Amino acid sequence: MTLNSLDASATSPRAELPLADRAASLVGSVIDSSTSLLASQTHDIVRFAMGSPADEAVPLEVFRDINAQVLDHSSLTYGATEGEPVLLNALVDYLAGTSDPVDPERITITAGGMQGLDLACKIFINPGDLVIVESPTYTNGSATALSYGAELLEVPVDQDGLIVEALPELVAAAGRTPKAIYTIPNFQNPSGVTLSLPRRQRLLELAHEWNAVIIDDDPYGLLRFQGEDLPSLQALSPGDPLLFSVRTFSKILAPGLRVGWVDTDPAVRQLVINAKQAMDTCTNVPAQHLVAEFIRRGGLDNHLAGLRVEYKRRKDAMQQNLRRHLGSRITTTDPEGGFFLWLTLQGEDARISTQKLFETALAEGVAFIPGPALSASGKFDDALRLCFASTTPERAEEGILRLRQAMDRELAA
Ligand code: PMP
Repeated sequence: MTLNSLDASATSPRAELPLADRAASLVGSVIDSSTSLLASQTHDIVRFAMGSPADEAVPLEVFRDINAQVLDHSSLTYGATEGEPVLLNALVDYLAGTSDPVDPERITITAGGMQGLDLACKIFINPGDLVIVESPTYTNGSATALSYGAELLEVPVDQDGLIVEALPELVAAAGRTPKAIYTIPNFQNPSGVTLSLPRRQRLLELAHEWNAVIIDDDPYGLLRFQGEDLPSLQALSPGDPLLFSVRTFSKILAPGLRVGWVDTDPAVRQLVINAKQAMDTCTNVPAQHLVAEFIRRGGLDNHLAGLRVEYKRRKDAMQQNLRRHLGSRITTTDPEGGFFLWLTLQGEDARISTQKLFETALAEGVAFIPGPALSASGKFDDALRLCFASTTPERAEEGILRLRQAMDRELAA
């Protein structure tokens, strides 16, 4: 079975079904399909594919303890759409002590970052609207825009993130201004690169010139393990009505909780609440209590500090292993935080299709996400995304050796 065969768009529904027009734009996520595909494999696989925190990084015992304390009838009934007050308060208090304080008037709790992206697109995107996306990008995010009928304008990233200087010319060529700009400013998924300060400032100026909303998707910002912190878009433009910021606990606590938040203009927040009431009424209440109590006990700072140390160790080890075992056959980005690095095949190896390599590598016992699955138009067949966060350095070395074996097999084929 291949990764693409699990993509929902690969099977057409029966023509006679009375589908909505938008059903045609509901493209499946190749990234998420990898979870099901890997779950169905019985052989040993080193998993560099999904962007999951390390099992060891999830504070299971603390959650077990908190669960015994917080689970009661009040946490098993409907909650407030905007979020449980205990979590809203804990979050506002926690962030008040960081460089990114939040205004309680702007916060809504969501079912993870994905729901935040969906709400942003639901509120701002009409069919046919132009949406700028990074290239490569987190294609679950670009697919959300597509599901509301957006037309995507892909703009490349370099080591300083989205090439903001290229935007005016590309927008002029498109013949209309964008309605939204979807960016992942810190340790971008999939490339690992970070948007520089001058580009952050210029992006805000352009968004105002075009009256375009910035969908500022930042799941990894609290996971910087080297280099200087940069001010967030929210810090550079406090109270900006054009900023729709999407945050999540998935990468810093546990993705299965499905708890995140959005930070928006208060008037937009009311639309977020209205939209959520027609969507899921409220976010999972027990999960919000687990997160709230975890923060209230004062564990988050220590937890984050531990993650930063461990993820730096894993990133360094991954790069060392790549250098040792693949040398000049590849180049990689050097992320200063987050989960991912982007590997580009060089020389002879650039002939290899990473989509085909995926299958060979899976047979060898290693999984990654091929470049085309991380591009709105299927580019980057000579590149791939590796998640360094979820694998120990020892396992990672084994994974890189298997990757080399798969590359050798592809070259010889
Ligand atoms: N945005 C980006 C850039 C991500 O990497 C992810 C998770 N892979 C999400 C959004 C979705 O986060 P969540 O799992 O909280 O829905």
